[in-house]
Amino acid sequence: MVNEQRFWHRLSGHLILAGGALILIALGQFQWNTAETELAAATAVPTPVSLAADLLSQTEIVTPTLVPQGSLPVINDDTLAPLPNPHTYQTKPPDHNFQMHEVARGETPNIIAGQYGISADTLLGGNTWLSQESNQLQVGAQLVILPVNGVLHKVRAGETIESIAELYQVPADDIIAYAPNNLEFPFYRLVPETELVIPGASIGQFFFTAPKSVATNAAGEPQWKVFGTGTYIWPVNGRCLTQFYNGFHPAIDVSSSEGSPVYASDTGTVTYASFAAGTYYDYGNLIVLNHGNGFETFYAHLSSIGVFPGQTVTQGELIGFTGNTGRSSGPHIHFEIRDRDFRINPLDRLGGGYQDCS
Ligand SMILES: [Zn+2]
Repeated sequence: MVNEQRFWHRLSGHLILAGGALILIALGQFQWNTAETELAAATAVPTPVSLAADLLSQTEIVTPTLVPQGSLPVINDDTLAPLPNPHTYQTKPPDHNFQMHEVARGETPNIIAGQYGISADTLLGGNTWLSQESNQLQVGAQLVILPVNGVLHKVRAGETIESIAELYQVPADDIIAYAPNNLEFPFYRLVPETELVIPGASIGQFFFTAPKSVATNAAGEPQWKVFGTGTYIWPVNGRCLTQFYNGFHPAIDVSSSEGSPVYASDTGTVTYASFAAGTYYDYGNLIVLNHGNGFETFYAHLSSIGVFPGQTVTQGELIGFTGNTGRSSGPHIHFEIRDRDFRINPLDRLGGGYQDCS
């Protein structure tokens, strides 16, 4: 039984080899015929019909017509077909080639932006880490000069083209159409930790980074006395949202009557508790808590502040009262959660339902 199987196996092997040889012979024959046809076409003298037609024919490429000699062998299986090139399906990281600028003494974002004919907003968009203290540029710092107005966005795990388009309120097609982003049809896969240029995007008006007003060790690292739980509670009793999270407004606004209590969303250290002056006027009276775990929460437009920088607070503790200070039309709280300076959607962290009052 086993021997019989082997015999058929070998026979089929021989048949395949013989078949392959026949195919090669047939292909050789076909190529020979093709060569003959081409030779005939090249040596044929064109019959002039008219001068115009003759001139026209000189500019045309003469393509010999292939006449198959008999029927061609057809390969029915795919053993000889090339394997799909895996490179075609590999995700390519973006391939940017940015112009860089080294900050010289006395330069401001406006001066540098002017030199390159871009807006100050685009300068910040290309260097989002700058937003921190944009009026105190460090001499020697290297700045990315984006070739188009927009934002240089660092891709985070779980993000999609759609979610990024939504975040910055720009069409997804604009992100795809920007060639150096290397987004390939049909998957448009993103590579985490790489950077995409988001044409037409803006980082928005809220980009203040609070100083870390806590004790530091010899290496200058903050020494946190308390650490957040990693969970977040609503900062006010209301659940009526007047503005949702997006790139221009990386926060939620919760409607609240003037003077309502504001609670610490998580345990942390107060790093800012003051009227946000100058560029950060928009926030009005602002409290920032640093949770010591890479997260911060921002509470803006307050009528009064009940904590001081350096103070530690526990989750749920009363820290101030809602108001209408800064750029605000009506009493509400502007609430941000930041994960290592990136403003995340607070609704992704807060439990329970809410009402759309926008
Ligand atoms: Zn707001």
